[in-house]
Amino acid sequence: MPNLPFLTLAELRSGYSRKEFQPSEVIEAHLKRIEALNPELNAYLEVFGDGARDRARALDKKLAQGGPLGPLFGVPLAVKDVLCVEGTKTTCGSKMLEPFIAPYDASCIRRLRDQGAVFLGKTNMDEFAMGSSTENSAFGPTRNPFGLERVPGGSSGGSAAAVAAHLCQAALGSDTGGSIRQPAAFCGIVGLKPTYGRVSRYGLVAFASSLDQIGPMTKTSEDAAILFWAIAGHDPKDMTSSTRPVPPLEALFGQDPRRFRLGLPKEYFVEGMDQEVRDALLATLAKLEGLGIQVEEVSLPHTPYATAVYYIIATSEASSNLARYDGVKYGFSAKHADSMLELYERTRAAGFGLEVKRRIMLGTYALSAGYYEAYFKKAAQVRRLILEDFTRAFEKVDAIVSPTTPTPPFLLGEKIEDPLTMYLSDIYTNALNLAGLPGMSLPIARTGDGLPVGMQIIAPAFMEERLFCLGRLIEELTNPPIQGVPFDQPIA
Ligand code: GLN
Repeated sequence: MPNLPFLTLAELRSGYSRKEFQPSEVIEAHLKRIEALNPELNAYLEVFGDGARDRARALDKKLAQGGPLGPLFGVPLAVKDVLCVEGTKTTCGSKMLEPFIAPYDASCIRRLRDQGAVFLGKTNMDEFAMGSSTENSAFGPTRNPFGLERVPGGSSGGSAAAVAAHLCQAALGSDTGGSIRQPAAFCGIVGLKPTYGRVSRYGLVAFASSLDQIGPMTKTSEDAAILFWAIAGHDPKDMTSSTRPVPPLEALFGQDPRRFRLGLPKEYFVEGMDQEVRDALLATLAKLEGLGIQVEEVSLPHTPYATAVYYIIATSEASSNLARYDGVKYGFSAKHADSMLELYERTRAAGFGLEVKRRIMLGTYALSAGYYEAYFKKAAQVRRLILEDFTRAFEKVDAIVSPTTPTPPFLLGEKIEDPLTMYLSDIYTNALNLAGLPGMSLPIARTGDGLPVGMQIIAPAFMEERLFCLGRLIEELTNPPIQGVPFDQPIA
């Protein structure tokens, strides 16, 4: 019997079809690992032990009956706690939503369920997805499986740590400015932010609606393609979801990446880029060039504005989206208020954490009369220029490559007192959200200290297949280290 939690989705599928094992064995093996390792990692906020077991037993019967199995059959998944799973808590890492029970499934959850996936539980995150380290969770930080004194990245840090430590086969995250790709890079796994509109956001608790996307966090590019394919496509419940057809799964690997031209943005080689990160990227590009792939310099001149623009737009949209948490409609409600206004004030003062309050204030300011023109409107204009930079670059190249993050995973507590330094963790990722483009982070190396280094690949809108094809080739070249330390040991 193989060590079940260490399999990839493709390996799991072939094991099921050969009847080497059945879903309940796979689920049990994962639950056992979670029980042993989660107390230290704090990757899961809630584990659906019995629910997952019941579901697995039903799938055992289905397997015994025979018939075709879809690629998601019996796959144990973890879900970032920003997505609604009917009848279970959806806290968003916040006290504000601690008592909230989701009344329905998010569309991506429904799709995965219909395809036979099994949900193991909900993962930790920065409160309302605001952060880059998962330290902003109201339920304690998650630790990085590659070094317990380090952050797993954020905001989808619980999902990233769960995948890296093999506490699930794959996970869902959400990405508004880098929250799938940055933790994927920090935990040595693959993370994809799809094109804006490719995956329905219905049932995703909104942070910044023009930037938010749901995406897969997996052990390989192939697994990312499978999960992406399973959740992508139009949904009448999300008017921003695209009606463009999703290619068949096989077509996602249908291109020869050896013919791609790759662009390296000259503006990305900024001060603050760690030497080992830089070396790892350049070494990977040299290997690709060795295969005949052309790498050329491209220019994205508005790059220096991206982080400022992101933090104006994201906080403005957040200040509006989070107005709904007033103590009346959802979750937490302060006691002993004498008036409606007092109820709002007390609920919001006690329910939100510091970073969320900071964002609401920043966003409210940027939208207020007199400042709207100077901040929000200007940011929206520069956002357009950022998109145009990419459009021009893609006239010359098929994909753009960059580091995912300027540094390897940092220490818990290292940046939490300094929001500006923390915000700079997103410098390579947030421009894609502003431009609506797909981007994938994949592990390419380890530092001298054994910490993972990620590389980001960016494609034109709706061209995710380029990311998967190139990702698979890079995996062959770099033999990525997907297994965390010390969590790569099987549990007897
Ligand atoms: N780290 C960024 C922020 O704090 C991105 C978060 C995200 O993508 N949800 O806003």
